[in-house]
Amino acid sequence: MSDPAVELKLEVKQASKEVKESENVAEKYSAMTVSKNSEITMGELSSAASAMPTHKPVKKQIQFVEDKQEFSRFPTKAGRRSLSRSISQSSTDSCGSASYTDSSDDETSPRDKTQVNSRGSSDFCVKSIKQAEFGRREIEIAEQDMSALISLRKRAQSEKPLAGAKIVGCTHITAQTAVLIETLMALGAQCRWTACNIYSTQNEVASALSEKGVAVFAWKGESEDDFWWCIDRCVNTEGWQPNMILDDGGDLTHWMYKKYPNVFKKIRGIVEESVTGVHRLYQLSKAGKLCVPAMNVNDSVTKQKFDNLYCCRESILDGLKRTTDVMFGGKQVAVCGYGEVGKGCCAALKALGSVVCITEIDPICALQACMDGFRVVQLNEVIRQVDIIVTCTGNKNVVTRDQLDRMKNGSIVCNMGHSNTEIDVASLRTSELTWERVRSQVDHVIWPDGKRVILLAEGRLLNLSCSTVPTFVLSITATTQALALIELYNAPEGRYKQDVYLLPKKMDEYVASLHLTTFDAHLTELSDDQAKYLGLNKNGPYKPNYYRY
Ligand code: NAD
Repeated sequence: MSDPAVELKLEVKQASKEVKESENVAEKYSAMTVSKNSEITMGELSSAASAMPTHKPVKKQIQFVEDKQEFSRFPTKAGRRSLSRSISQSSTDSCGSASYTDSSDDETSPRDKTQVNSRGSSDFCVKSIKQAEFGRREIEIAEQDMSALISLRKRAQSEKPLAGAKIVGCTHITAQTAVLIETLMALGAQCRWTACNIYSTQNEVASALSEKGVAVFAWKGESEDDFWWCIDRCVNTEGWQPNMILDDGGDLTHWMYKKYPNVFKKIRGIVEESVTGVHRLYQLSKAGKLCVPAMNVNDSVTKQKFDNLYCCRESILDGLKRTTDVMFGGKQVAVCGYGEVGKGCCAALKALGSVVCITEIDPICALQACMDGFRVVQLNEVIRQVDIIVTCTGNKNVVTRDQLDRMKNGSIVCNMGHSNTEIDVASLRTSELTWERVRSQVDHVIWPDGKRVILLAEGRLLNLSCSTVPTFVLSITATTQALALIELYNAPEGRYKQDVYLLPKKMDEYVASLHLTTFDAHLTELSDDQAKYLGLNKNGPYKPNYYRY
């Protein structure tokens, strides 16, 4: 067994090495500090990036046994049903938005339609190209709250740092993603896009992108077979070979790695947004099978501390309200997991007067919950009293059939975590229970004695499936993704090896500063004397890599 004291020493050693390297980076990066110089050129960006540390980042050592299996199992046609889990698990760890259009009026599968856009191209497959105008309006609305990304677009578009980049993307297809895709195109990239979740596509947005010439293969309510077909159509097209991947969940990466190994080998870089996708990349890397450099955007501070926390704080109530019209005041709510997502959910629920208790496995998060004024309990202690359960653990079987059996009539169960395995939904599909679909994404599961439990989005991400999510937060993540793509695409040979990297903290600080303008926030500048006293470069980075915020 390894000695924890030795491990700790090694970690501290590694951390101090990172600080030193960050300081070196900072000097070259000084031109990027927005408070001092808001006009940053791509040349500056790239020279700054050339100083990025090329050492391996500290990796999270979390094992996802099932993910490993997914990677080693190439989905054959016959085996496609068995992939439902793979799809749902990689649905998202970030956010998407419910479509404003209802796709149920036209039952014809987009795969059976021949559609042509006004440019005469039929290289796309969406619900209806006729919705393009409506989708364009949605994109324009999103642009208004994504001014930092738009400003990056404006600053860099004359230099076209992505000229020649052929990006294949697999993310939620929402108005906010469209702003990202169109930014990448303005910077010179060609894009083909597919959805990382079978429910999250905004049909009108997919249509608007197709009308603009992006080859989009996605619609809301795809079957599992459609899901893989869309990915394949994105990747496998004559006369076009991708050289960059932007993934959310790892399914696209998985597909290319298994099915098109020769194309995969030539990819210049992968940018991955989700917890699950990142774990899959680390597993590949650990097994020595990752033949492409990859950026872990999930663990960028500007993703994790904003998307996970603030996005969920803002959207949990929306998802619950739209589906159930529930009143929050006085409700007994159990939130499972007090990580970033759990903290966001609890803050919102508490603010509206709910009586919130927490379940946790980690004493540190449990102690945080206590200090924030929440009771920490085991789910079994409160299962008969709770009105609402929200899971946010990223784990499986957090709410079991036995616990669902003991919940009271009218209680609500939902999930905010990445995977649909947090609530054991499969165990509810038995003959003695009746399922009644009462609204879109709302099922009443009825026990033989008449007790009803309200299950939302069949245990999938609530905010993703049932509400919209705040555009501004997505702008932060999208800006980080765009910078990661620019960096990987422009990096000279050898800067990045075949491994998984984190964006340097200076980039995180840059993304944050771009967004400060919206709030008319004014940063305080360090004096020379103060900088010396703290041992910092005046232009950042302002924190060591191990700082937790
Ligand atoms: P996190 O690791 O910060 O928090 C998860 C917490 O759950 C941890 O503190 C862990 O100790 C705890 N936990 C694990 N198993 C548990 C169990 N059986 N019972 C109780 N607690 C348990 O992760 P996070 O950033 O909060 O993300 C949580 C999940 O939400 C992930 O799946 C992530 O992908 C997803 N996510 C969702 C959204 C969204 O918009 N809905 C946004 C970001 C992330």
